[in-house]
Amino acid sequence: MKKIIFLLSVLFIFSACKEENKLFDSNPQERHDDVPTIKLEDGQIIPLNKETSNAFSIIIHGGAGTILKKNMSPEMETAYKQKLEEAIRVGYEILKNGGTSLDAVTKTINVMEDSPLFNAGKGAVFTHEETNEHDASIMDGKTLNAGASAGTTTVKNPIDLAKAVMEKSPHVMLSGKGADTFAKEQGLQIVEPNYFYTERRYKSLQKIKDKEQTELDHDTKVSFYDSDIKNSKFGTVGCAALDKNGNLAAGTSTGGMTNKRWGRIGDSPIIGAGTYANNNTCAVSSTGWGEYFIRGMVAYDISALMEYKNLSLKQAAQEVIQNKLTNLGGTGGIVAIDKNGNMVAEFNTAGMYRATINDKGELSIGIYKN
Ligand code: ASP
Repeated sequence: MKKIIFLLSVLFIFSACKEENKLFDSNPQERHDDVPTIKLEDGQIIPLNKETSNAFSIIIHGGAGTILKKNMSPEMETAYKQKLEEAIRVGYEILKNGGTSLDAVTKTINVMEDSPLFNAGKGAVFTHEETNEHDASIMDGKTLNAGASAGTTTVKNPIDLAKAVMEKSPHVMLSGKGADTFAKEQGLQIVEPNYFYTERRYKSLQKIKDKEQTELDHDTKVSFYDSDIKNSKFGTVGCAALDKNGNLAAGTSTGGMTNKRWGRIGDSPIIGAGTYANNNTCAVSSTGWGEYFIRGMVAYDISALMEYKNLSLKQAAQEVIQNKLTNLGGTGGIVAIDKNGNMVAEFNTAGMYRATINDKGELSIGIYKN
């Protein structure tokens, strides 16, 4: 009994201080990283992080890479910011009205897939064979159910296909022609492959091919991994959300990397690498050089550090992106939300298109490092 009274009085003092602390909290994305705790009479330490949670929240990315202000026209910058805002507001409204995190993730990603600005859906990059091959995945943190598709060429919104694989098939991942057929059978929107043609992406492919031809040893590996061009290849989209029922979800959709060949599949459709969600820890969507994200199992690794080592989301994301991924030679980043609605955008590139909205409706949009 004494213990309960003591605990209640500490909780009361803590919540009284909470409002005041918020005034000094300039970065909503990174607050409450140092989870407050109290020590009971018997020495037991109890975290008070529930007290500082967002009841719901949403975070998105539109790709990471060498995104430098000096290379960006004011018009392009405005266009990206507007589209990020439009996309995240769709998910925010769903969450605010009591919708599921899965729906918020899907509908938010749809907006970015329909925009030529991002490397997903309409704006997908070209393969070496001058086709567009899409990868996507989604995961439900409540059930640990997941769905993914790889290498599709006719599905307008690949994230819808990933969700259909999760909900309407006994499988987790479908690929190629079979995945396109399943999408058609499910009544998803099918388009002619040339729907995905954009001049900008086509020119990027030609530029890389020209460079490849001038490589002395004509080593395709050199061209694919060339440090000058590799960063211009990114632009995947992703989203993580926490709904009012405490359910986390994450999803990712991409055209992959420019000049990919031989049916290359990146991290985006791989559960644990490109996407992961678990109600006990966090929801994560990755973007960057996919081969490294697969080798590092980046999204799951962040969740595992939280689950097994008790790290906060921020600590786990920093460890995986700034230490493990960087030491491996990989570039890119993640967006993530923990079970208390704390949001993190962590990347080791010059920039990452990103946006967050918390349950107070506070919007934050970022492109460059600072
Ligand atoms: N991760 C994606 C891939 O490797 C590319 C990206 O994030 O832009 O396919």
